[in-house]
Amino acid sequence: MISVAEALEQLFALAEPLGSEEVPLARANGRVLTAPVTALRDQPPFPASAMDGYAVIGDEVHPGARFTVTGEAAAGRAFTGSVAPGEAVRIFTGAPVPEGATRVVIQEDVTREGTTITLSDGLDSATHIRDAGIDFAQGQTIPAPRRLRPAEIALAASMNAGRLTVARRPRVALISTGDELVLPGDTPGPDQIVASNTFGLAALLEANGAEARILPIARDTVESLTTTFDLAMDADLIVTIGGASVGDHDLVGPVARDLGMEQSFYKVAMRPGKPLMAGRLRGVPMIGLPGNPVSAMVCGHVFLLPVIDAMQGLPAVPRPLLETTLATDITANGPRAHYMRARLTPEGITPFESQDSALLSILGAADALLVRPPKAPAAKAGTTVSYLPL
Ligand code: AMP
Ligand code: MG
Repeated sequence: MISVAEALEQLFALAEPLGSEEVPLARANGRVLTAPVTALRDQPPFPASAMDGYAVIGDEVHPGARFTVTGEAAAGRAFTGSVAPGEAVRIFTGAPVPEGATRVVIQEDVTREGTTITLSDGLDSATHIRDAGIDFAQGQTIPAPRRLRPAEIALAASMNAGRLTVARRPRVALISTGDELVLPGDTPGPDQIVASNTFGLAALLEANGAEARILPIARDTVESLTTTFDLAMDADLIVTIGGASVGDHDLVGPVARDLGMEQSFYKVAMRPGKPLMAGRLRGVPMIGLPGNPVSAMVCGHVFLLPVIDAMQGLPAVPRPLLETTLATDITANGPRAHYMRARLTPEGITPFESQDSALLSILGAADALLVRPPKAPAAKAGTTVSYLPL
């Protein structure tokens, strides 16, 4: 049995970065930027008013000062003249500050009669002008690689980038295996259950930039598994679920090996998720996840997400763990790393009473996996511990 870290290293060795493609900006959120975005202009491109008010010469501003209003500057409609001593230009937020003006007096500090304005007492001292280029200058970049969030989409738009270069979405084929499984919405027989893992994993993968394809359920026969593997061969990554233990009906390993799978490892020192398998099947990386629903999802977080990140050109590293304090005492851990379903509260983290790897209701109520290293000693409430957010 190998450690989680070793297993992840071997998975990274199987998963090479995929190529890039160009997408319209509006389709780029959540994708991994693979080429920097370069600003095509300064922002703001001109000194801009930050408020509604009057643009004047700063030296002339004092309580009671009077100015003659000579024009108006609005957003998108610049005032083409300049501001001379004793003059003011009515100005609105986002408008270019006219030549000569060095300060905007906010309209709340002004009394206007006809074309004359008088400044009030209690003026503030700000200029209310945003200098050209204070947000970014032409040539400034959004560095790659990085996963694009809404804030970066807005920044790229502001830089006038209409199309972005992003990693191709990894195509992940998901294969549930088992005679007991039916699809959600079907009518299960008395000895059947509804396949949940493929759907949970597809959601997890899609939310992290992959394109998940749920294949027909493979039955526990050599023929059915072989046919389903054939359907998966155009994927960038094949993920099987279940059938990976050593029972009579656990055929994923034997069938994959018969089809030529070069196995990287089998079994990882973790709970849940021990019977994890990985290798390369006719050139395609393959990961065999355990069937228990919580095991499959935990392995999705711990292994699949870093692997699809790496396939999208992000650094090949584990998901970063966060730290918090234990809200309750916990017992010593055994020889395998334990990913405990847990809840985060202002007092810290509390693992759920039951850690049965079949209980999706508990995974659904959890917002974190408390990560206990192999052989971690018992720990008291208040101890700092690591967790993986869900
Ligand atoms: P296995 O690894 O095939 O022995 O499966 C372990 C347990 O997980 C069994 O109780 C299976 O019924 C269950 N299981 C396997 N695959 C799925 C799936 N796709 N969705 C829900 N449960 C599953
Ligand atoms: Mg099975």
